[in-house]
Amino acid sequence: MTTMEHVTENLKVAQEAHENSLATEDIAIINKVKKIFNERIKINCTACSYCMPCPVGINIPGCFATYNDYWSFDGSLVAKQRYAIMSKLGTPASKCVECGKCESHCPQSIEIRKELKNVKELFE
Ligand code: SF4
Ligand code: SF4
Repeated sequence: MTTMEHVTENLKVAQEAHENSLATEDIAIINKVKKIFNERIKINCTACSYCMPCPVGINIPGCFATYNDYWSFDGSLVAKQRYAIMSKLGTPASKCVECGKCESHCPQSIEIRKELKNVKELFE
């Protein structure tokens, strides 16, 4: 959660949700979909943005979301186009100067510098 709005929304959901309100079939479907997505997702980024801002202006969660979308949706052309626009408007992954500032803030312990190289290899 990065804003007060997120906290308020999560509190609302917690107040309204009831224990065991999902049917067994619903849970089975959720688990099936979750398994498929987890198998396709390459970088376990939750988009929390704790790694931001990057001193050279790389949109780290944006890069990882786009990279994951590419693999999740079978080499998505949309992901390629989104990365091209993101790079044009901002800073591409290849501009990482490897200062490491971002990695010390990542709760998922993602090797951000290494993964940005993978993003660069794929999209640039
Ligand atoms: S290591 Fe790269 S991505 Fe991370 S803060 Fe430094 S320049 Fe930005
Ligand atoms: S801190 Fe880690 S998990 Fe959060 S957005 Fe950055 S890379 Fe993703």
